[in-house]
Amino acid sequence: MKYILPDKLPTTVVGSYPRFPEAKKALKLKKDRYSNKEIIEELIQSAIRRVVEDYLEAGIDIISDGEQRREDMAVFFAENIKGFKISGWVRVFDNVYYRKPIIAGRVKWTHEITVKDWKFASTISRGRPVKVTLTGPYTMYDWSYDEYYGDKKEAILDLANALRKEVEHLIAAGAKYIQIDEPALSTHAEKEDIEIEKEALEIIFQGINAKRIVHICYGKLERLFPDILDFPVDQFDLETKNSNFRLLSILKEYSYDKELGLGVIDVHSTRIERVNEIMKDIMKGLEIVPPEKLYVKPDCGLKRLPRDVALAKLKNMVIAAKKVREELQ
Ligand SMILES: [Zn+2]
Repeated sequence: MKYILPDKLPTTVVGSYPRFPEAKKALKLKKDRYSNKEIIEELIQSAIRRVVEDYLEAGIDIISDGEQRREDMAVFFAENIKGFKISGWVRVFDNVYYRKPIIAGRVKWTHEITVKDWKFASTISRGRPVKVTLTGPYTMYDWSYDEYYGDKKEAILDLANALRKEVEHLIAAGAKYIQIDEPALSTHAEKEDIEIEKEALEIIFQGINAKRIVHICYGKLERLFPDILDFPVDQFDLETKNSNFRLLSILKEYSYDKELGLGVIDVHSTRIERVNEIMKDIMKGLEIVPPEKLYVKPDCGLKRLPRDVALAKLKNMVIAAKKVREELQ
């Protein structure tokens, strides 16, 4: 089935969606080392199907698999890339536990990590493109204990080479939107890290025929301007609603001319943004880039929201984008 994307203000998501009970059950079975892998796969596919159904109901143009298979964005890739070990469960506060990746050897890609879920989501998306999200090399390094390299640049470039292999397999399967998620860039990166990340993104994206996107959120991204704007990507996917669109005036100052993924939904709040409010926020983005280059989306992944809230927010976002599109005719 062919799906025609709107030529102005396409709507999209960052990646994660609230985890459906099927996905929770699959993760639990995996944690308990349950041996019947087919059952786990069926549960994950049911969860992805429900994510895609919600996106279709909301009317999102460029969707994702909702990251239903991922325990978290770093551990999932660490479990699937050679060279990593995973720590035991660490208590952060109250009843929140997490595991941390440990780099214990040379990092190497050995098998497809995201292709299967991308393919499955694509077969049920009624022609809508499915974006793939990969946790970026900087964030993977920053969120891991390095017991092997002791050299940040060497580790990050090896991670980039591993992700490059994954991207090649995704492209061969037909993926057209590849997003590298780098939340650690805005919180921990220093100016000198920007050169390393630029080299890493060149490794990941060089010569590929797909939309090259980098997602960065929260923290103080402006510290890294304007150097970061030279990244070899087509699109910056940013968190803007939560920070009251502070970054936009800075982008304007540097004559930003790439595509912009504009966050108009605050994923840290359960308040459902009104259609009029989202329309006004979209207009703020249009002061920076033309409607052909503006992608309308939430600030970040939706995984921490209740599912009914996430769906209601997406529905209003799609209505608002449509209304602004009509006004632009
Ligand atoms: Zn994010």
